[in-house]
Amino acid sequence: MKINVLGGGPSGLYFAYLARKRLGDVEVNVHERNAPDATFGFGVVLAGAGLARLQAADADSFARLDAITKRLGNQEIILNGQAVQVEGEAYGGAVERLTLLKTLQDLCAEVGVNVTYHAQVDDPRLLDDADLVVGADGANSTMRRSFETQFGTHGSQLSNAFAWYGAERLHDRPTLSFRNAGGGAFCAHYYPYTDRMCTFVMECDRAAWEGCGFEAMTNDQRQDFVEDLFRDDLQGQPLISNKSEWRNFQPVWNDSWTHGNRVLIGDAVRRAHFSIGSGTRIAMEDSIALVKALETEADVVSALAAYVAARKPAADILIGAARESYGWYEEMGEHMADAASPHAFAFDYLTRTGRVDAARVAADYPGFMAAYQSERAGAA
Ligand SMILES: Cc1cc2nc3c(=O)[nH]c(=O)nc-3n(C[C@H](O)[C@H](O)[C@H](O)COP(=O)(O)OP(=O)(O)OC[C@H]3O[C@@H](n4cnc5c(N)ncnc54)[C@H](O)[C@@H]3O)c2cc1C
Repeated sequence: MKINVLGGGPSGLYFAYLARKRLGDVEVNVHERNAPDATFGFGVVLAGAGLARLQAADADSFARLDAITKRLGNQEIILNGQAVQVEGEAYGGAVERLTLLKTLQDLCAEVGVNVTYHAQVDDPRLLDDADLVVGADGANSTMRRSFETQFGTHGSQLSNAFAWYGAERLHDRPTLSFRNAGGGAFCAHYYPYTDRMCTFVMECDRAAWEGCGFEAMTNDQRQDFVEDLFRDDLQGQPLISNKSEWRNFQPVWNDSWTHGNRVLIGDAVRRAHFSIGSGTRIAMEDSIALVKALETEADVVSALAAYVAARKPAADILIGAARESYGWYEEMGEHMADAASPHAFAFDYLTRTGRVDAARVAADYPGFMAAYQSERAGAA
């Protein structure tokens, strides 16, 4: 069998590695437009459940990934400088995106995957000389755009804007820090991914964008602005930019994940939202499911059907949760204004997707819930 993969991000490389390792006599070719050491962003979170699934899927690669993953502890939610601790089970871990890619590139090389870098593919039909063509080319997937009607692609654009920065900042926990400015709301999502570095995703709502004059600012001026606004969170450290442009997030989803012998995985097939985290491990779980289907089914057609059946129901639930989550962020200014206290705000945040209720918060974060309940009892 011959498999062509478009895109050498986490989903494409992990799929290629597992396919080459598991499927026996198979040629796997990955076409990646970038150099091996080029990437955007800083660190990404790999939630606890996702790490367990990567371990169950392939112990060898998990051992390598585990070695580069920084385990994360409890969460902190800060409302205009007042912090609330949300302590519970370990949160999972975080890994530098470039180190993750390098590790996956090494694993691919070891099992004999052919990865071609600097290979921009503008027409995915050029990859049709294979039994299976995998579109793992990310949120702006050329594969998906080339067959938008066949995939039944849908998308939207959020009104909040965000930019992905890094910072050298000693910190031990994932944190969300909300601050008002310019008549609107900002949020810094930050977490450590090495002992030295944190990812800082900065987000603001439309009112803040307009009220703070972001439209007329350059990217450098916007960076200076949020650096100043979140000075305490940054402990005086500057933000580090890596092509860190302010953009509006565009959720994407598809009615169909396959078109003939073509299949979409990772961000190409569904882009949820960074506020529910885990885009990377969800993308890698697609890879696991696709290889499993190819391993167990007799032919590519049945394997693609099995892959969709295994993954799509969970993806639909995830997209529903993502909508609730980004809907909450689009109205974060109102949530901040309405909150009776930082604890009440944190509770509102934790239950924002509707998938977590008070009982689940109490079970997962007993210390937080006890503090919140005692505060409410005191106020009554
Ligand atoms: C602000 C922000 C924060 C995030 N935080 C997290 C987080 O904390 N945890 C997490 O797990 N995820 C996070 N994500 C999401 C995560 O980055 C993605 O979900 C993940 O990278 C998806 O992997 P992928 O392999 O599907 O796509 P990608 O990582 O996008 O990889 C696609 C690859 O295809 C290549 N490619 C694209 N088009 C072509 C072409 N035409 N020809 C050749 N090559 C091509 C690209 O160069 C790229 O290497 C975040 C995303 C954003 C925007």
